[in-house]
Amino acid sequence: MTYIDVHCHIDMYSDEKIEQVIEGARKNNVDTIIVNGVNVKTNRRILKLADKYTEIKVALGIDPIDALKLTDQEVEDEINFIKKNKGKIIAIGEVGIDLKWSKELKAQKENFEKFIQLSIDLDKPIIVHSRNAEHDVLDMLDRDNCKKVIVHCFNGKLSLVDKAIKNGWYFSIPTNITYSEQMQKLVDKLPITNILCETDSPYLHPQKGQRNNTPVNVIEGYKKISEIKDMNLKVVEEKIKENYKRLFVK
Ligand SMILES: [Zn+2]
Repeated sequence: MTYIDVHCHIDMYSDEKIEQVIEGARKNNVDTIIVNGVNVKTNRRILKLADKYTEIKVALGIDPIDALKLTDQEVEDEINFIKKNKGKIIAIGEVGIDLKWSKELKAQKENFEKFIQLSIDLDKPIIVHSRNAEHDVLDMLDRDNCKKVIVHCFNGKLSLVDKAIKNGWYFSIPTNITYSEQMQKLVDKLPITNILCETDSPYLHPQKGQRNNTPVNVIEGYKKISEIKDMNLKVVEEKIKENYKRLFVK
C-alpha cells in the first residue's frame, strides 16, 4: 500500500528536518506529497525541493491573506511566474478566501478569481482554502464551471457539500479527523470517490495539541476514514489512489 498527502507545507521546516521527514515518509510508503506554496518565497523554495525529492509534487499559489499584501502588479507577476513553471507543477494552490483573518471580501474575491482563471488556463486542479467564506468560494468555482477542484480542510456547512459532490469535486481530509467531529461528519457524508487525504503539516496533527505534523501521519487519516466508512484499509487506499489519478494524471 502507498499513501498520498495532497496538502502540506513541509517547506516551513529546515533542510535538515525535511531530509528526516522525507526519509520517514519513504519508510512508511507515503510516496506522493503535494507541497503548497503560499507566497513568492515559498513558491520558489518548493520548486527547489521538488528537484531534490521525487516524492514532492508542487502546487503554486498565493494564500488569500498573503495576496492582500501584494499590489495587483505583483500578483500578476507571480501568476506569470507560475505560468512559466507550468511544466513543473501539478496544481494551483493554495488559494481562496479567508474571512477569519481579513474582512476584505471584495479584494480577496478579485485575487481568487485570477487564480481560478489560471487553473482553467493551465488545465490544472485548484486547491482551495476557505475560512468563513465557504459559500462564496464554492459559488465562484461553480459559476466558473471548474472541474478540477480540491476543497482543502472544509469547515463550512454540510448543506453546501451536495453541490460540490454533484460537480465531481474532491475534499482533502486533514489528519485532525482523528478527533474533529466536523471532519468525521464530512467523511460520513462524502462518497469515497470524492475523498483525498492531507496532513496540512506542520499543522493539524492527528493528536490534539501536538505540533510539527509530518506527511507520514497521513496514514492516520486513512485509518480513521476506513473506520467511519466501515471499509477495509486496503480498499480505502485503493479508492483514494484512483481518485488521485482521476484528478491529477492525464
Ligand atoms: Zn495549507
